[in-house]
Amino acid sequence: MHPRIEMFLRTIFGSHIISMGIIMLALIALTACSNASSKLPIFQATPAESPASTDIQTKAAQSDVTPAAGSIPDCTSPASLTPALTEGPYFTANLPERASLWEDGMAGTKLTLTGYVLTPDCQPIAQALLDFWQADANGQYDNRGYTLRGHQYTDENGRYELITVVPGEYPGRTEHIHFKAQAPGGPVLTSQLFFPGVQDNQEDRIFDPSLVIAITQDNGSSLQAIFNFIIQP
Ligand code: FE
Repeated sequence: MHPRIEMFLRTIFGSHIISMGIIMLALIALTACSNASSKLPIFQATPAESPASTDIQTKAAQSDVTPAAGSIPDCTSPASLTPALTEGPYFTANLPERASLWEDGMAGTKLTLTGYVLTPDCQPIAQALLDFWQADANGQYDNRGYTLRGHQYTDENGRYELITVVPGEYPGRTEHIHFKAQAPGGPVLTSQLFFPGVQDNQEDRIFDPSLVIAITQDNGSSLQAIFNFIIQP
């Protein structure tokens, strides 16, 4: 405290009161310091949160580099939801769990379809349910048994692989594979997949070009293709 001010105060209030005033000022200063130090953890919390977001980015990056038979997520956020289409008359409940619907001796072109189930934010959905059912290469459904019907779940990277046959056409319908997709606890999406370059696509009232799979390899007797499902988590 400035000596002249102290002298002035001593003149008015006496030295005892001034000493107490100085002690109180010191206490106020200490309290302010302790308040300042109590705020530190709040500021420290910000860097503590960042590893979590980094973790998400790391996971996304990991899924990008996951060797997945040529099926790398092709997704730009916000991605449009995979559109819903009619279920049709041939769905059967309680489909067996299996990723391969292909059976030895099956007629037709073998198809290996891979991809990811993703949120509109392009985050992979692990353990998403995928139901597939379809006609055989001659356009016939098995409505008694479970031929060419099955369900599976995406792996921890949100990836799936379906092995099946290219379905044949039947009256009024172009080539298509029916599916249902559901994130754990999420709404069920019912729709259909289509094939590129099929002449009858344009004649099919249900056909939607955004549901066409991308062929990545064609060996004549077998096809490899990719499709990513974008669904509500
Ligand atoms: Fe159908």
